[in-house]
Amino acid sequence: MRSLQSEIEQRGQRIFELVDKHPEPLFSKAGFYQRLMMLSMRDEQLKQQLFRFVDVLPSLSTSGEIVQHLQEYFAEARDSQKVSEFLGAGVRLARAVPWISGPILRWNVSEMARQFIAGRNSDDVMRTLRKRRAQKIGFTVDLLGEAVVNETETDEYAARYLDLLEGLSRETKDWTDPLGKNSALFPVVNLSVKISALYSQINPADPADAIAHLAPKLRPLLRRARNVGAFINFDMESYAHKNITLELFKTVFTEEEFKNWPHAGIVTQAYLRDSEADLRDLIEWGRARGTRFAVRLVKGAYWDYETAKSRQNGWDCPVYLQKPESDTNFETLTRLLLENESVVTSAFGSHNVRSIAHAQAFADELGVDRSRFEFQLLYGMAGPIKRALVDMGYRVREYCPVGELLPGMSYLVRRLLENTSNEGFLRAKFSDNVPAAELLRNPREILHRSRNGVLPPLNSTINMTKNTPKTQPGAPYDNAPLTNFALPENQEKMRAALREQRKQFGRKVPLTINGEKIWTDKMFSSVNPSQPDQIVGYAAEADIPEAERAVAAARAAFEKWRRTSFEQRCELLERVAEILERRRFELSALEVFEVGKPWSQADGDIAEAIDFCTFYARRMRLLGRPRLTQNVPGEESYQHYWPRGVALVIAPWNFPMAILCGMVSAALVTGNTVIMKPSEQSVIIGAMLMEIYEEAGVPPGVLNFLNGKGSVIGAHMVDHKDVDLIAFTGSREVGLWIWESAGKTREGQRELKRVICEMGGKNAMIVDSDADLDEAIVDSIYSAFGFQGQKCSALSRLIVLEENHDRVMERLLGAAASVRVGNPEEAGVVVGPVIDEAAYRRILDYIEVGKSEATLAYQAKDVPPHGYFIPPTIFTGVKSNMRIAREEIFGPVLSVIKVRDLDEAIEVANGTDYALTGGFFSRSPANIERIKAQLEAGNVYINRPCTGAIVGRHPFGGFKMSGSGTKAGGEDYLLNFLIPRVVTENVTRHGLAPEKTPEYREEFLWPKK
Ligand SMILES: Cc1cc2nc3c(=O)[nH]c(=O)nc-3n(C[C@H](O)[C@H](O)[C@H](O)COP(=O)(O)OP(=O)(O)OC[C@H]3O[C@@H](n4cnc5c(N)ncnc54)[C@H](O)[C@@H]3O)c2cc1C
Repeated sequence: MRSLQSEIEQRGQRIFELVDKHPEPLFSKAGFYQRLMMLSMRDEQLKQQLFRFVDVLPSLSTSGEIVQHLQEYFAEARDSQKVSEFLGAGVRLARAVPWISGPILRWNVSEMARQFIAGRNSDDVMRTLRKRRAQKIGFTVDLLGEAVVNETETDEYAARYLDLLEGLSRETKDWTDPLGKNSALFPVVNLSVKISALYSQINPADPADAIAHLAPKLRPLLRRARNVGAFINFDMESYAHKNITLELFKTVFTEEEFKNWPHAGIVTQAYLRDSEADLRDLIEWGRARGTRFAVRLVKGAYWDYETAKSRQNGWDCPVYLQKPESDTNFETLTRLLLENESVVTSAFGSHNVRSIAHAQAFADELGVDRSRFEFQLLYGMAGPIKRALVDMGYRVREYCPVGELLPGMSYLVRRLLENTSNEGFLRAKFSDNVPAAELLRNPREILHRSRNGVLPPLNSTINMTKNTPKTQPGAPYDNAPLTNFALPENQEKMRAALREQRKQFGRKVPLTINGEKIWTDKMFSSVNPSQPDQIVGYAAEADIPEAERAVAAARAAFEKWRRTSFEQRCELLERVAEILERRRFELSALEVFEVGKPWSQADGDIAEAIDFCTFYARRMRLLGRPRLTQNVPGEESYQHYWPRGVALVIAPWNFPMAILCGMVSAALVTGNTVIMKPSEQSVIIGAMLMEIYEEAGVPPGVLNFLNGKGSVIGAHMVDHKDVDLIAFTGSREVGLWIWESAGKTREGQRELKRVICEMGGKNAMIVDSDADLDEAIVDSIYSAFGFQGQKCSALSRLIVLEENHDRVMERLLGAAASVRVGNPEEAGVVVGPVIDEAAYRRILDYIEVGKSEATLAYQAKDVPPHGYFIPPTIFTGVKSNMRIAREEIFGPVLSVIKVRDLDEAIEVANGTDYALTGGFFSRSPANIERIKAQLEAGNVYINRPCTGAIVGRHPFGGFKMSGSGTKAGGEDYLLNFLIPRVVTENVTRHGLAPEKTPEYREEFLWPKK
């Protein structure tokens, strides 16, 4: 008996022989598409530009716009000669006669898209399907469309699915199975469904909500499919949706109505590390259900996205990082499927001849008849392989996307990437002409060689390890990963933490002065804004005498603390970071109750607090050692830093842990002593930070915790002669008062007070005429309404070019209506309550102002009756001089301003007192450059939300009336807490000078330990 490997080789060779009879035209050298492929494969940078251009092209309405983009994308291309050759008529012609070349280009790209899209609608696609039928190739049809951003769009999608199903079943009612054997397993009509098209608010943290919305949308389709004898397949999308898709599949097909229906299938992605466990679980479920189901095995289409996303978030990467690992796993799963053929019907979705030959050989080894499984391949790809498989007597089905060109662009770009990927089989075979023997090698063997160091590890730049020594100065900085709430274990931990925090309601927290716990007569109560009758906790309230004691304690502790080595201070921050990490879920849950933060935002706040600690510790290690200013013989001049003295930290409630912890940690690590005054509304979280610092070993007096009214103790301490530094984040009104008051020198004052002042914003995002609206809408909604718009970075003015205005509004209003408003204790809620009654009243007043000034375009109706819930609200027809366009509202209220062109957009965006964040959605490289240069904002975000700054990556802070120009989480932030000092020593003795002076020296510490 021959080995499996030689069986695979023999089958593979046979496929290649058949394939070589009809070479792949997509990889030939002629035609627009072919030239695009060749250029892309030659130059990675050019490939990026080409694909970006393809992506934007369909949204450009005039030839002038097309030509303008063409020049912007390719003016600086390294290979500009080749680019203009490739662009056929060329940029020269485009400049001269744009009305000709624009349409030619558009036509070329449409033709290219047509190679991958089987038809615009069900009539159109039938022509393709009939041709395939004649070739004995079956079909599964997939609907292309824009990303759905609201529930109206999902309803339309569901209706389109039904329509398509009806059309297909009507047109194919006489069709029979091409193999005429085991045909009951393979209905002719096969529809591939994407769940993301059926519910716009899928939140990976809340599978139950997603299933509750998706199941009712699916049932009518499934019913109809069963009645007409069709097959429904659930496609698999990004990892974030994977568990929900699996859960939905099992839930719906366990229901009485569908339990006995065998024509349901789902996709398994072999590039996922957990795919084997998932598949085993599915098979077990299928056995228990007692009815066959189907699995389409693929490698997975989102590899680049998953790796980038997990790196951005600091998550373990869910996909394998080496291509042979995915190939090997594909084979492992092939075996698992075929070994369980009694319950699951397999479809192998691959163009890779090795993967295909392996499935064939293994099926034979097990004695599974070739009519009992199928190969599925994509429309427009690997035509010769399909023909070869049909010739060999296998069952072949083609995946046929149907839809318009414009919405189909993301699909087209995915296919272009796949075809030009360095790792891909199709490129290796049809473009790079890799020999058959190489292509048929066992992927396990390739992996083995790579582990032995013969092959360089693929994608070795992706470093997922978190164990790099972090304490070295200059070591690479890794942010604390966000909690991935797509993972069920994290959902469960959060729910448990919420239950636990509920039990702690009503706890009491004291003041902490000089390490002593102090209770006062007055207790302040902090309530749950979702249910104000619930008291999260009580905090002792300080008055002037306690404020005096705190300042005295901090002053007294300063001398010793300033002489504590910076290394010890850095270690203190790192211990705080560890405790924050250990108590992460508990603290996040507390934030949900005390300030109404949705889960992921609460988690983000704790992650940011951890980042501040580790980042500032890292920075202090770089600043702490005196550094040589210039290297001259005979003289040593070292610059170093002293702390300023006593720091008063006044923090807001909206990032109750992160901002408080950030300012406190910066002050402490630089050697200042601190009085921290959290906001009254988030005092319990503030008390937790005190507790954590104490556990980490902060000495008495170095950090003091004072809760009380800003107008009483805050004002007293700002004016205090013994306070040297004020770090404030909060409202403009208070910030300006602090700025002014701190400018006065009091009797006995030693230092000029330093004020670090971060205030509000009136942030604008501009939507350009060529913007990708799928992104612009989702990101605008998130930026405006996430955490109820209570971020200083939140979007409050959406500036839309008139060309785009109506389309943007249509989608925006629908998206706003689909956002989940409710108690943030529920996992998937996006908009919770505002912080307190005062805020509630103030925002409602602003809404009234808006109604009188502009047009109320949208206001949510369905908000919880109790608690401080403000319905998300959108005004249109807003002019830049109106109050709602100028004043900070700090709530879920968005003003839309229509402008003529980008000039006016920039003028409006910059025409406020503030300059905190700003955003721009565009695919025009020139316009993007212009915004980078001209938008007045401390943080400018292009093609992404304008909130969610990450420590170290997006140093955060604004100017004008938004702040004093400091950047929290930036490299130079700590300098605000320090006084620079230079010590110069003449080291020559009678002309004798040391040859070398070290760049750094030990800290000037006296007495030395
Ligand atoms: C009919 C059909 C339906 C499909 N449906 C889906 C679906 O619902 N969901 C989905 O996600 N995909 C789906 N795909 C799969 C996907 O779109 C690709 O076509 C497929 O992954 C290409 O694999 P291949 O075996 O043809 O080619 P190969 O060239 O052998 O494999 C390419 C694949 O390997 C993986 N890969 C690439 N680089 C690496 C690396 N460095 N480390 C690890 N792995 C790597 C990627 O998955 C990549 O797509 C479907 C494919 C077909 C044919």
